[in-house]
Amino acid sequence: MRIVLLGAPGSGKGTQAALLKERLAIPHISTGELLRAAVKANSPLGQQAKAVMERGELVSDAIVLGMLEERLNQADAAAGFILDGYPRNPAQCDALDQLLERLNQPVDRAVQLDVSEEMLLQRLVKRGADQGRADDSPEAVRTRLGVYRDQTAPVIDHFAAQGRLTRVAGEGTVEEIAERIVASLRQ
Ligand code: ADP
Repeated sequence: MRIVLLGAPGSGKGTQAALLKERLAIPHISTGELLRAAVKANSPLGQQAKAVMERGELVSDAIVLGMLEERLNQADAAAGFILDGYPRNPAQCDALDQLLERLNQPVDRAVQLDVSEEMLLQRLVKRGADQGRADDSPEAVRTRLGVYRDQTAPVIDHFAAQGRLTRVAGEGTVEEIAERIVASLRQ
């Protein structure tokens, strides 16, 4: 099964993807994690991405697409995948459709995690304090939520228009939300 997990920063995509990958036995592919690994490794790509990410802005479409394509070509992704953090704007939607068409692996379902803005802010501020992620500073959080509203929210409409969208309430315990997602995928 090929799933795209959608939701604002702080909506719990990463947490839910980690559970889902065990239940569905398919890899979790997070473009944010791929980028953070590149930054950590200090690769040329990571050097380009670092400052952009710290500001909470989007890394260039070409860089992220190249990285994603490389990851999707690895053997484990042939069984399916949970994609988290991509697509993040309309151009990435089109790039993903084209890439997956070429690989003959279209998206089966997009799952949108709905969380109120108030809860998102609470979670991100707490994560910043607990984990010290550079882009969880109050200023970067504001930028990321703005980028989400302006650029990423239209992605929901893209999957809805294809008849592939399911919305799930993203507030409650981690386990409750995981159950909702699994139930929605069975339908
Ligand atoms: P969150 O969803 O909580 O913002 P992510 O780990 O998904 O966290 O992403 C962190 C950062 O990585 C983003 O703010 C952005 O700079 C970069 N990034 C991740 N995915 C993409 C993408 N598809 N396109 C451009 N930039 C991306």
